[in-house]
Amino acid sequence: MNAPAPSTQKAADPGVMFLTSEELLNWSRASSLWPLTFGLACCAIEMMQAMSASYDLERFGIFPRPSPRQADIMIVSGTVTYKMADRIRRLYEQMAEPRYVISMGSCANCGGPYWQHGYHVVKGVDRIIPVDVYVPGCPPRPEALIDGFIKLQEKIKHEQLNRPAVSPPDNG
Ligand code: SF4
Repeated sequence: MNAPAPSTQKAADPGVMFLTSEELLNWSRASSLWPLTFGLACCAIEMMQAMSASYDLERFGIFPRPSPRQADIMIVSGTVTYKMADRIRRLYEQMAEPRYVISMGSCANCGGPYWQHGYHVVKGVDRIIPVDVYVPGCPPRPEALIDGFIKLQEKIKHEQLNRPAVSPPDNG
């Protein structure tokens, strides 16, 4: 009979947990997220509100940073124009790995109100960089962004540390 996985073993002391080193590291990474805020249009107002004292993102271990060199998450909130696309990709490449992207709102997700006739709008930021979590809405409320962070934390907790690095799609 196989021994149970370390994470499922019961300790005699209820204050003791058994974890693999990978689970411990993933828990640490998920509990300390440093997002680079990237406000592009009206969705950014809701992103700023989510970072205010009334929503208190820091209780989730989320600590916004102004520089891509210090960040491991990019929140793309707003309309992604073709003029901005190269800047977004460059900032993404400057972030530490492993890095993640939250696409916030309909414009960043798929072009939003500009999806059909917006000649200047990229129809989804995932055409430029890989996206981990999509937050729906026009605009999404701060609670929706927090829900997106919680989904990302769940994803990070189940990652394998030896996964291959993800490269942004080549748009030719
Ligand atoms: S999704 Fe709506 S609220 Fe957000 S940037 Fe686009 S138009 Fe503005």
